[in-house]
Amino acid sequence: MVNLLILVAMAMSHSGAGRLSLQLQDILSAHIDPKVDPGVDFFRYANGGWFAKNPIPDSESRWGISNLVRDEINEKLRLVSENSVKANAPVGSDVRKVGDFWGTAMDEGRAETVGLAPLKAEMDRIDEIHDLDSLVSCTFDLLRYSASPFYGVYVYQDEKQSGIMAVHLRQGGLGLPNRDYYLDSGQAYTELRKGYVDYLRSLLELLGDKDAQTEATNVMSFETALAGFSRSVQELRDPQANYNRLPTDKLTEQLTPAIDWTARLATLNLHPTYVIVGQPEFFKGLGDLLKTTPIQTLRDYLRVHFLGTFAPYLNKRAEAIDFAFNHQMLLGQKVPQPRWKRVMEAENESIGFVLGRVYVREYFPPSAKRRYEELVGAIRRAFAERIRRLDWMSPATKANALKKLAAMKAMIGYPDVWKDYSKLQIERSSYCENVMNAGRWAFEDMVSKFGKPNDPSEWHMTPQTFDAYYNPSNNQIVLPAGGFVVPGLRDAQIDDAFAFGYAVIGHEITHGFDDQGRHFDSKGNLTDWWTPSDASKFEKRTKALVEQFSAYEPLPGVHINGRATLGENIADYGGLLTDLDAFKTTMAYKKGKKIGGLTPIQRFFLGWNLGWMEQEREPNLRRQLLTVVHSPAKWRVIGPLSNIPDFYLAFHIRPSKPTWRSPSQWVHIW
Ligand SMILES: [Zn+2]
Repeated sequence: MVNLLILVAMAMSHSGAGRLSLQLQDILSAHIDPKVDPGVDFFRYANGGWFAKNPIPDSESRWGISNLVRDEINEKLRLVSENSVKANAPVGSDVRKVGDFWGTAMDEGRAETVGLAPLKAEMDRIDEIHDLDSLVSCTFDLLRYSASPFYGVYVYQDEKQSGIMAVHLRQGGLGLPNRDYYLDSGQAYTELRKGYVDYLRSLLELLGDKDAQTEATNVMSFETALAGFSRSVQELRDPQANYNRLPTDKLTEQLTPAIDWTARLATLNLHPTYVIVGQPEFFKGLGDLLKTTPIQTLRDYLRVHFLGTFAPYLNKRAEAIDFAFNHQMLLGQKVPQPRWKRVMEAENESIGFVLGRVYVREYFPPSAKRRYEELVGAIRRAFAERIRRLDWMSPATKANALKKLAAMKAMIGYPDVWKDYSKLQIERSSYCENVMNAGRWAFEDMVSKFGKPNDPSEWHMTPQTFDAYYNPSNNQIVLPAGGFVVPGLRDAQIDDAFAFGYAVIGHEITHGFDDQGRHFDSKGNLTDWWTPSDASKFEKRTKALVEQFSAYEPLPGVHINGRATLGENIADYGGLLTDLDAFKTTMAYKKGKKIGGLTPIQRFFLGWNLGWMEQEREPNLRRQLLTVVHSPAKWRVIGPLSNIPDFYLAFHIRPSKPTWRSPSQWVHIW
């Protein structure tokens, strides 16, 4: 039996022993552009040195820290994958799965030979649709591929009873990033819509359709109607408004007479007595729309979406159609990424926890885990102190907030229990089939949780991910090992000031108390633990943050959506203040020793900045402004910092400078 550790040893031997000697210069000071005044443009001051030497490559739509970290991790996992191919391990083993996935995916010749054959069975099933009943039956089959035909069916924790796994129905079905892309009348959107119809047409032509232009136009009209009753990004963030519990046997009558939900859910082995419907008006609208849309259009819609979902894993023609719209037009990428990078993303998506287990064993030593456990402890204590000191909150709400904070669980680095992939089939027949199998496996894995108690040890992000999350239903922060990575440095080489600023620990803790998280209690249930007066004071304070961010205009005429990004902006700002308080209790702060010519406090703020060091192409920035709940990188830095007096002091920024906001404008929440 081949041991994964041996594969790592093989991978290590490729990585080159000379790597560490490159790190003589401090990266925080190396990135600075000394010609820029931090009071005029702090983001350019902090990153300008790096930006000047690192323009966005043609194969990318953005370029910065997340790419550097991902590349560093993926280079390691690539070697693990390549060595897994050579290992020829026993069928069914994890090593064999990694080897077969990688070897098959990298084989471009095979992708050309199999063509669209991997989709044939489902395409035939779609072609057989002749009425609403056969349509609905087919969509339930397609749900298994983790694609969302019209809508999504999910099993996850009931927001009001966090110990119970409940069935959720949510809006879906749009091929463009969200409703605004269909409904906005601006010039940029008109062009994108035209490009989208071209994309649909090309896919339908690939399927051999003669009348592809008309079909594509009809599919577009159908999706535009769907967009008309879909909720916006900010509406989807309201946990109360998106929680509508209905008895399963009333769904058909009350929402969609065309869909017999009890019978259909049973085909997925789901027999719930109630269902949580995110957006009831969407399902009503969909029910009406299905009745008035010609069956042929609905068939074409499903065919084109199914093909579109898997196009990146098929032959060159399908890949090219996918690239031209989803990457070139929508994100501004000029050429595709190298194949190995795209395959690595797909492998991470499909069997990421197998790779993650290898990764942390080698690159996240126990000393790093201990260090971040200590940071979490210090930052949690600092947050408790901040709650006690709040001058606007009553003792009753404070007591509940402290109780929630004390109960918050922290998962650091990697899961204690690893996912079992033994039922997942990874073969050597085709790349696309492996991705489809992984999608089906993930769906079955999710559905199988229904009826079982919630498992709070489960991770929803792999350990090698450069990110982190707060799960309100578990009242839990999850901090993957990948989120602590600084490119080119071992963890021990990151000084404390840098680490306290860079790791997003305070940010994730504050999510438990943002405009969304505050509605969940210490046990993860959606209940109101605030006095009415404290709740209204909170709302009033957050309004100032909404106004601050809504005033930023990253693209001409496109402002940040201060309401949609509110939760993230609260977390960024509250998190920074808390991380800073915690850092001030350390020896590194008290000693005040400079590193790379920078004081500890300067390194703290530059550490935060490094987490968002990124430049992006215009289409990608536009997409982010419209669809994502995070403010763009630059404003995640200057937005919260410009409410913090220590920041002004650290970089000697005076009131006359553009970065300065007067103390009367500083927002105070946590
Ligand atoms: Zn966040």
